[in-house]
Amino acid sequence: VPQDRIRNFCIIAHVDHGKSTLADRLLEFTGTVDKRDMQAQLLDQMDIERERGITIKMAAVRMAYTAKDGLEYELNLIDTPGHVDFTYEVSRSLNACEGALLVVDAAQGVEAQTLANANLAMNANLEIIPVINKIDLPAADPDRVAEEIESVLAIDATEAIPCSAKEGIGIEEILEAVVQKVPPPAGDPTKPLRALVFDSHYDGYLGVVAYVRIVDGTLKAGDKVHFIATGKEFPVSEVGTFAPRMRPAELLRAGGTGYFHAAIKSVTDARVGDTITVAGREGKAVEALPGYRPAKPMVFCGLYPHDSSDFPNLREALSKMQLNDAALSFEAESSAAMGFGFRCGFLGLLHMEIVQERLEREFNLALLATAPSVIYHVYKTDGTMEVIDNPANWPTTTTIERTEEPYVDATIIVPTDYVGAVMEMGRERRGIQDRMEYPAPGRVMLYYKLPLAEIIMDFFDQLKSRTKGYASFDYELSDYSPSPLVKVDVQVNADPVDALSFIVHRDKAFPRGKMLVEKLKEILPRQMFEIKLQAAIGGKIIAAERVSALRKNVIAKCYGGDISRKRKLLEKQKEGKKRMKQFGNVEIPQEAFMSVLKLG
Ligand code: GDP
Ligand code: MG
Repeated sequence: VPQDRIRNFCIIAHVDHGKSTLADRLLEFTGTVDKRDMQAQLLDQMDIERERGITIKMAAVRMAYTAKDGLEYELNLIDTPGHVDFTYEVSRSLNACEGALLVVDAAQGVEAQTLANANLAMNANLEIIPVINKIDLPAADPDRVAEEIESVLAIDATEAIPCSAKEGIGIEEILEAVVQKVPPPAGDPTKPLRALVFDSHYDGYLGVVAYVRIVDGTLKAGDKVHFIATGKEFPVSEVGTFAPRMRPAELLRAGGTGYFHAAIKSVTDARVGDTITVAGREGKAVEALPGYRPAKPMVFCGLYPHDSSDFPNLREALSKMQLNDAALSFEAESSAAMGFGFRCGFLGLLHMEIVQERLEREFNLALLATAPSVIYHVYKTDGTMEVIDNPANWPTTTTIERTEEPYVDATIIVPTDYVGAVMEMGRERRGIQDRMEYPAPGRVMLYYKLPLAEIIMDFFDQLKSRTKGYASFDYELSDYSPSPLVKVDVQVNADPVDALSFIVHRDKAFPRGKMLVEKLKEILPRQMFEIKLQAAIGGKIIAAERVSALRKNVIAKCYGGDISRKRKLLEKQKEGKKRMKQFGNVEIPQEAFMSVLKLG
């Protein structure tokens, strides 16, 4: 089809407002997949994505649609990830589009991620088409939701399309609106190639499959492409489109989207957000598309195999995952308490959970994770600054002049009844309240500046439970701010247990240290000797507990009796040993260790 009949668009929504269901209906209506194949297509997706109902991997699907004007259009639906960890990826895929369907639940109204995604779409200059979904629900109130879209998002909602993705109502109206309202792509096919890499995945046979939006020029097999940011060059093996599976094509041209592969060994060589051009042309007529930045891990934790002999397997699994995940970082570390493992970096908490879960499921590894931490800036008395992502590397107290931690700008939308609960949480989490707005009757929008470290500690679950599930939440990183931070060491019989040490705001050091040693006391099995548990800052004890010794005769009784019972006991002990971790001179069961780590 000619360029003026191409439409590139995406669907943006708060989680659960119906993005995936609507995408399925569009694919069905345009005959891109038939109803029979629908299930099969869903099964192709990653397990975790389906189970959690979140979209992790983006895709672009080409649909052919004959509009009411009798002409055939090429509609490219670009999928966007729906989670705050992947904001950069969302912004990249939005840049591959000219329009966005903004889906809002007719019963729930505008939520925090509706707002965040709408802002990203406006920044990308997209034509936004509001869709009010789930009008079949008894609680649906499309008029109120239309008002909210206008007042909160400042988007004209007079032509918002009422829809039920579930019942297939409004689907044709949506496709017509895409054709009529989303502008066709600009771009000149006769100019030298310029294309945006907006996503990629790794395929065991093909190497990296890069998803591209062609801005100018054309791309075909045999072309040698040059990545502007990484400087890497590769001869293209194949180009094509997703319809919805990979389908080879002769040529991709300006305005269109599709994929190419070129025997690229790792996604780090084909970065999301990078611009490609034809080798030899770079720096001449071709300028990189704006906004590229390499994925940067923000949240770190130590990952250790339960069974220390799994260390090489863990390394191999992490390397394999990195081929497909440029945002994952790892380096080997060792800990007296945990043995050999890796310090890993992630975009955020969800990213961390996804990686852990996949390591356990797909690579069959049993893992232990230390409490997550953020990246701190430590300014030292000698004028230097250290970037610390691991409590183990925290400098000696006397060399520290001041410290900073990362903050986020958070938006919380909640029914009026729960404002008190949210504000209480804001205080507990060291939040600074910016302002408060009333987007609609009965609803409040709160803006906060919060330390990222407080958010990675169970913030979202707490918020949900304290507001009976009604609060919605979104955040973006803002900047580093001064914060008096200290490192708390945990000692068992005067030996520091490195895996339990943590960095915390000075005012919270005492309660958290106390909580940790109390918890340890509860779970540590009694030994033949007394165990001293202490939390300390730079050698100064801030909390202490004792686990008293077992009396001798208890042990004696245990070991008496006939020989077979004794052997059984020994065997059991041996089995137990495997799952023990050494705490100073005290061995404790793995499970106990886990429960301490969960405290964060
Ligand atoms: P996503 O998180 O935005 O991708 O949302 P999903 O498409 O996964 O939908 C979330 C839930 O809402 C699912 O249980 C859907 O079946 C349901 N849902 C989606 N669209 C509709 C609709 O139009 N009406 C009703 N009643 N439920 C819907
Ligand atoms: Mg979905």
